[in-house]
Amino acid sequence: MSKYKNLVTILLLLFNVSLLAQEEKVLIDSSLKPLVKEYINEGRVRGFDSAPIIFKNVDTIMLDSTLKYPMLGYYDMEFKSIHIARFTLIDRVIVKSVLYHELTHSVLKGYGHVCYKCRSLMSEKSPDSFSKYAIKEVWDETLDELFIIIQLILEKDEEKRTQNNIQR
Ligand SMILES: [Zn+2]
Repeated sequence: MSKYKNLVTILLLLFNVSLLAQEEKVLIDSSLKPLVKEYINEGRVRGFDSAPIIFKNVDTIMLDSTLKYPMLGYYDMEFKSIHIARFTLIDRVIVKSVLYHELTHSVLKGYGHVCYKCRSLMSEKSPDSFSKYAIKEVWDETLDELFIIIQLILEKDEEKRTQNNIQR
């Protein structure tokens, strides 16, 4: 192995360690932890790393027994917490969809409900049935769309901020 390759390995290791250190600061309910990791990975395979933004905007991800249907979950920007209704655990597809929705809120902060009329994962109203998300092809397409929307919004937001800075 060349010296260069060793260096790359060490850098990758350091990068992983620093990400883990950040992750440990976020308190995540143990039943939601694998799904949070899944969300981050789904973004990464689509060229978007949400981990640094989530770890900056979120301190706790919890199951909340006080939430009653039709309230499935919410992201509290002020307290940097994500609340998922405990009853959503009844169905893996539901808890996953709700968690993905709220995680996206934490990534996009004020720009959450991008889609009022369409049936996207980030529409304001939950779908009549979550069962379509159990179909792998539909779920994959939904995520393709989701991570494209996230990146477009973040890019626009960045543009706006630079423009504001110029105007000042
Ligand atoms: Zn929402």
